[in-house]
Amino acid sequence: MKVVLQNLTKVFPSRNKKANEEVIAVNDFTFEIPDGKLIGLLGPSGCGKSTTLYMISGLQKPTGGKIFFGEDDVTELATEKRGVGLVFQNYALYPHMTVKQNILFPLQNLKGKDKMSKNEMLERAHEAAKLVQIDELMDRKPSELSGGQQQRVAIARALVKMPRVLLLDEPLSNLDARLRLQTREEIRRIQRETGITTVFVTHDQEEAMSISDMIVVMKLGVLQQIGAPQDVYDDPTNLFVAKFLGTPPINVFEGKVQGGKVYIGDEAVLDVADVEDREVFIGIRPEGFVPDENGAMCCKMRSVEVMGRDVSVVSEHDGMVSPVIRSIINADSGIDATATTIRYSIKRHKIFLFDKQTEERIRFEV
Ligand code: ATP
Repeated sequence: MKVVLQNLTKVFPSRNKKANEEVIAVNDFTFEIPDGKLIGLLGPSGCGKSTTLYMISGLQKPTGGKIFFGEDDVTELATEKRGVGLVFQNYALYPHMTVKQNILFPLQNLKGKDKMSKNEMLERAHEAAKLVQIDELMDRKPSELSGGQQQRVAIARALVKMPRVLLLDEPLSNLDARLRLQTREEIRRIQRETGITTVFVTHDQEEAMSISDMIVVMKLGVLQQIGAPQDVYDDPTNLFVAKFLGTPPINVFEGKVQGGKVYIGDEAVLDVADVEDREVFIGIRPEGFVPDENGAMCCKMRSVEVMGRDVSVVSEHDGMVSPVIRSIINADSGIDATATTIRYSIKRHKIFLFDKQTEERIRFEV
């Protein structure tokens, strides 16, 4: 089931009637979620991710715009009629019910033509439990389960009604690091197996990048960029997106383009014949630095952190805007950790230029 958001907007009125401080939580979103895909809604706290999800679910009414499931306009449709499965950060299971009873619960409330026989319900609940691999735990109470298992029950409960769209709001944030990793892989597997169009909200870029078919990056209610995770990482539309994706983060410098060259301080680090003279921000991905004794860029060494296959070289430069420069270098490159300076040349496709005022990308021939 494809989901289409058309000029979707949500404005929360000012709490204080005198001060006009209305919040535009979601500002004129238009995008299409293709059938059967997993979309990660990504952005810092307060950027409008949850509000977007709640509008898709029907829990919140848009101030403007429309939502379509397939060809159906569901904008005015009540949540229970939309056929959505919802999973929240806090699993919200009924503590006095067993796992089985929790999963059965949404089916027992079906009315009219949707009403199911007891056997049908049990079969469905068992299928959902099996899919999330908790079918062995059906008689336990939530308090007898780990956080990861509880979250699986919540997912089974959302799946049991065979939703048209699955909506997950930060479903992993209550889990410890190991379980997070495991559960996110599980969510990916379940999504692939069921083929249910899924929207996954998170502020964790690594999480979103690792499981999404497409990511939607948001900032202060405004959609910044949509695309496959690798495409957005390799081709960010502005400085915000470039900074938001990637660990370690992109290194940002102040500089200028003059006479077809990019300067950081007085070092010409790149030729860009097709860019006019102007002030710029320069972003260089950590993997874009190549140790090179003839390289144009000279940085002051701070430390070398061993990471196994790679090392992370921490250095400084007068032109940097980021607190430090972090480059990721193959451990076999023989970096001299006792040196006071390190020279780099820069990989052309790992360096981005941004307008100093608008912070929009300035493109050049790669
Ligand atoms: P987080 O990651 O912290 O959950 P988010 O990206 O999901 O953040 P939203 O919860 O969608 O952000 O909130 C977007 C904006 O709308 C925020 O500025 C928030 O303060 C505001 N907001 C959300 N709900 C309401 C409400 N009921 N009344 C007024 N303002 C609200």
